[in-house]
Amino acid sequence: MIMDVINKAIVALLPLVPRPIIWKISRRYIAGETLDDALRCVEDLNAKGMSATLDVLGEDSTDQQQALAGEKIYQSALSEISSRDLDANISVKLSMLGLRFDPALCESIMRRLLQSAESFDSFVRIDMEDSTVTAVTLELYEKLRKDSDRVGAAVQAYLRSTETSVRSLLGEGETNLRLCKGIYVEPEEIAYREFGEVQDSFRNSLKVLLESGARRVGIATHDPELVESALEMIHKLNVPRDRYEFQMLLGVAQAMRTDLVNKGHPLRVYVPFGEQWYAYSTRRLRENPQIAGHVVRNLFSG
Ligand SMILES: Cc1cc2nc3c(=O)[nH]c(=O)nc-3n(C[C@H](O)[C@H](O)[C@H](O)COP(=O)(O)OP(=O)(O)OC[C@H]3O[C@@H](n4cnc5c(N)ncnc54)[C@H](O)[C@@H]3O)c2cc1C
Repeated sequence: MIMDVINKAIVALLPLVPRPIIWKISRRYIAGETLDDALRCVEDLNAKGMSATLDVLGEDSTDQQQALAGEKIYQSALSEISSRDLDANISVKLSMLGLRFDPALCESIMRRLLQSAESFDSFVRIDMEDSTVTAVTLELYEKLRKDSDRVGAAVQAYLRSTETSVRSLLGEGETNLRLCKGIYVEPEEIAYREFGEVQDSFRNSLKVLLESGARRVGIATHDPELVESALEMIHKLNVPRDRYEFQMLLGVAQAMRTDLVNKGHPLRVYVPFGEQWYAYSTRRLRENPQIAGHVVRNLFSG
C-alpha cells in the first residue's frame, strides 16, 4: 500500500526528472540507441551461453512511413544477426508495424520479415500488447503460422482467457508460444489482479503447453517461484531441451539466469534497443507504476 503511493508519486514526478537520469535508470535494461549497440550486447550474451531476441523500441506507429521504418530496422537486424553469425532472433510489436491503422500493411510487413527469417534461418516472435489488440494479434499469428513455422506469439497469464487461447492455439498444430505474466494494466473483468492468481494461471497454461508438446515454449519470467515450478514440470515430464527455453529481460535477475545456464537450460535474453528509449522508459513507468519501485532501487545502486 505504502509502496503503491510512493510508486505513483515517482511517476507523477517523472517529467521533472532530467533525461540523463532516466538514461541512468534505463541503461541496464536497454542495449543502446543503435543496432550496433544491440549486436555488441548479443555477442556478449552469446559468449556467456545465452541466446537473445532483439526488440526495436517503439510502438503505435500512426502512418505508413513509421511502420516501414520499423520494418527496415528489423530487416537490417535479421541480416546482421546472420552475417555476424549470432544466436539471436527478433521480437516485434504489431502496433509498430501498422496494426492499429492498416492491418493489411502490417500483415504484408510481417510476411516480408518471415521471408527474411526463412532465408536467414531465423525466427520472428510477435510480442503481445494490450487487450485492445489481443484477438487480432492471435488471429494474424494463426494466419501467418499456416504459411511459416518461423513465427511465434506471446500470451499473458494475467488474462482470464489465456488458458483457453493456449488450448485453441495448440489445436492448430505445432505452435511456438512465449508465456509471460503480462505488463499492461487491464480491467478486472478480463484480467486477474491478485499475484497468486496470475501465478496459478501461469502454471496452468505452462502445464498445458509442456504436456501437449508445443513446438517450443518460451518461459518468460523472473519470478523465482514460477521458475522453480517450471523446472519441476520440465523434470517430471522429461521435456527435451529443444522444446523449451527460459526467457528474461536484459538487466533483470542476472544471478538466476546464470544459474539456469550453468545447469544446462536454454536461456534467451530480450534485448531492447533504439532511439525511442526515452519515450519507452517513461511510458512503461507511467503505464505500470509498480515498475517505479525498480527505478528507486536503481537510482541508489550506482
Ligand atoms: C522475455 C520476456 C518477454 C516479455 N514479453 C512480453 C509481452 O510480449 N507482453 C507483455 O505484456 N509482457 C511481456 N513481458 C513482461 C512480463 O509480462 C512481466 O511484466 C515481467 O516479466 C515481470 O513479471 P515476472 O514474471 O518477471 O514476475 P514479477 O513478479 O513481476 O517479477 C519477479 C521479480 O523480477 C524482478 N523484475 C521483474 N521485472 C523487472 C523489471 N522490469 N525491472 C527490474 N526487475 C524486474 C523483480 O525483482 C521482481 O521481484 C515479457 C517479459 C519477458 C521476461
